[in-house]
Amino acid sequence: MPETTSTDSLLAASLIRDVPDFPKPGILFKDITPVLASAAAMHQIIDRFIAFATPKAPTIIVGIESRGFVFGMPLALEMSLPFIPVRKLGKLPAATIREEYALEYGTNTVEMHQDAIHPGDRVIIVDDLLATGGTAAAAKRLVQRLGGEVVGFTFLIELGFLHGRLALPNDDILALLSYDD
Ligand code: AMP
Repeated sequence: MPETTSTDSLLAASLIRDVPDFPKPGILFKDITPVLASAAAMHQIIDRFIAFATPKAPTIIVGIESRGFVFGMPLALEMSLPFIPVRKLGKLPAATIREEYALEYGTNTVEMHQDAIHPGDRVIIVDDLLATGGTAAAAKRLVQRLGGEVVGFTFLIELGFLHGRLALPNDDILALLSYDD
């Protein structure tokens, strides 16, 4: 059973769908599309993200492709902040900076437009799920290379058994649902 970080129940907890062996054998995929289909669940998530982010006085919301977009953009809009996408290699049209990170087999590369963030910006990074933390750590390096400060991370889901927090030492992390097996 998932544990919530708060005593009042999160509507998303009962909506997340476990899909075994997707996208490859042995992976239990956390399908968040039923959460996206519930406006009430989404409002609750974004409200929790706002409560976490507001005291940190962010100036930018960064979302990680692609499910970080569907949580990051409504957060940015509600906070009246700019939204900046981190995308997979080759998707962003203008000049970019890149960060590579290790996967179980091989590597992955993420990019950000090089004019997206400026020194002094305070950044919240958003994704749907924290697994090993490699993607989030790469997004953090992109922000830092452009002079931004990462003031927090928000996730709907954390797979605790993959210890993604170890890749983000000293960072302030909100994960609304944690699965420990
Ligand atoms: P990681 O870099 O290992 O923390 O992986 C995080 C990224 O992979 C996120 O963008 C997630 O959307 C995706 N991801 C990893 N594992 C799963 C999973 N079991 N179910 C759904 N998405 C996952």
